[in-house]
Amino acid sequence: MQLGHPLIETPFQYRNCCWFCQEPAAKYFSFPQVNNFIVNCIHPSLSLYCCNECYVPANKSKASSIWLVFKEVKSYLIKKYQKDLAIGVNWTQEELANSQFENGNFEGFQRSAWFMFEVAKKRVNFNGWPLVIDGLNIEELKWEVKESFIFDGIEYPSIDDAILHYAQAFFIPEDYFKEVVVNVGSTKFSYAVRFCRLLIGTTPNERKAALKNLLDG
Ligand SMILES: [Zn+2]
Repeated sequence: MQLGHPLIETPFQYRNCCWFCQEPAAKYFSFPQVNNFIVNCIHPSLSLYCCNECYVPANKSKASSIWLVFKEVKSYLIKKYQKDLAIGVNWTQEELANSQFENGNFEGFQRSAWFMFEVAKKRVNFNGWPLVIDGLNIEELKWEVKESFIFDGIEYPSIDDAILHYAQAFFIPEDYFKEVVVNVGSTKFSYAVRFCRLLIGTTPNERKAALKNLLDG
């Protein structure tokens, strides 16, 4: 595969690693892509190592900087590994080990679930490494990228990704969870999570009433 732009410098410990997720790299990703026209790109054109999985969203991205592509890739990984990441939301390692899953079809689940959670978490949390091209560190150029959101040991590209993730884990509509967060405030995200965790399996009307109680109370 041809390099479209100069390759970034890669620290020795990350040689042959994907810049997005630290898995073994399989190809190059060049930014901007040939068909992605960016007026006044805030950083020099570049290429970096990428795994096959991260390449899918990166290649589709129309984002205006490599750091925004990074966020889209993380959103993709969070969505793709939603079930694996939900293990850590719904269980602790100890609960899982002590669960009654030893027999029957759940044996495999118990053995691999926590491992899959750890792998997915590590990939989502990996922060790449500072972008250096031809000896020039371009990290300070990323000031314009929106703040990420860290909750319960996982760094989400944005609070919307965290909201979507928990809404799916609790089987409640994303808009509802968002409404709860907006009402309690993003600084009380853990409160919103605890509240919504109680709503698994509820009907829309029950959720509506619960939110009304919360706001009135
Ligand atoms: Zn990757």
